[in-house]
Amino acid sequence: MPKALVRGSINIDEFYLLPHIVRPGETIASTGFSRSTGGKGANQAYAAGRAGANVVLDAQVGADGAEVVKLIASGGVDVSRVRVIDGEVTGRAIIQRAADGENSIVLHPGANFAPSSGEVDLAGYTHLLLQNEIPLDDTLAYLRAAGKAGIKSVYNPSPMPSREVLAAFPWDCLSYLIVNEGELSDILAAFDDTPLDAKLSVKDRAIAQMHALHGAKGFAKSVAIVTTIGPEGVLVLDVKGPHPEVAYSPAAKARKVVDTTGAGDTFAGYFVAMLMDKGDDAPIAELIPTCLQACAITVENAGALESIPARADVEARLA
Ligand code: ADP
Repeated sequence: MPKALVRGSINIDEFYLLPHIVRPGETIASTGFSRSTGGKGANQAYAAGRAGANVVLDAQVGADGAEVVKLIASGGVDVSRVRVIDGEVTGRAIIQRAADGENSIVLHPGANFAPSSGEVDLAGYTHLLLQNEIPLDDTLAYLRAAGKAGIKSVYNPSPMPSREVLAAFPWDCLSYLIVNEGELSDILAAFDDTPLDAKLSVKDRAIAQMHALHGAKGFAKSVAIVTTIGPEGVLVLDVKGPHPEVAYSPAAKARKVVDTTGAGDTFAGYFVAMLMDKGDDAPIAELIPTCLQACAITVENAGALESIPARADVEARLA
């Protein structure tokens, strides 16, 4: 039975509506407040759970995290490996949203960055999903352990590690890299700074960069590269054939675009769930339609985690 572990972050996102972003020394009253569950680990685990996967979230919160953990569990995520860290608060994103649409964010990593036991337990898991919102040493330890155990791993490097980290990254332990077009450029820059024709479209630039990254010295040819390109859809460099080509799939049509927050996390979670469903030998192209349809529904709804659809709703649209 396929079983996935997400080792990642949990945040409480707090949104303050304001006439303008607070200036140094200024105190102003907010005109609105809302709170939601966030953190890429939480969002992606929730998406995998909503997609029907057997998924466990390994993360850390403070004593104030009970409510968000309950919400994550409601998506079908096993939260038995979420630890409550004494004396720490749950990670927080404090988001100021000004009347003119400008955003300003304070991120407090809190329990996400509290020392963990250092123990890597992947017994019984077939898949591992990682982002970059926990200490890098933890991410690397899990990735190396997965590589050693032959567990399929998926990495969504957000926020982007430094060039030094990327250049020395254990790419040979990784199975699937999921990036957006900006992240793809950042990773490639760690290996190859050859400038590309400035006139290329977003899609053609990403295709060229995926080929360049696949062939770059220091990267691993065994890593499949999946690049989401926003409303345009996704590009996939599968590595199963003898001559990897980049295949393009246009995005599923959203009925209306309300809020694109969480689209990337929906894609990553659904991608892992579909990998588990179809098996790792299936061409990646077979997984993509379900992932894209899930993303289209996410962008039709406000919020991040709360906008991620259940598998049945995605299938109904595909039918
Ligand atoms: P990220 O949030 O990581 O930057 P993207 O913006 O690339 O991720 O979005 C991930 C996926 O969500 C895309 O591949 C696409 O399928 C879908 N998506 C994003 N924006 C739209 C949109 N406006 N309409 C339809 N689908 C969208």
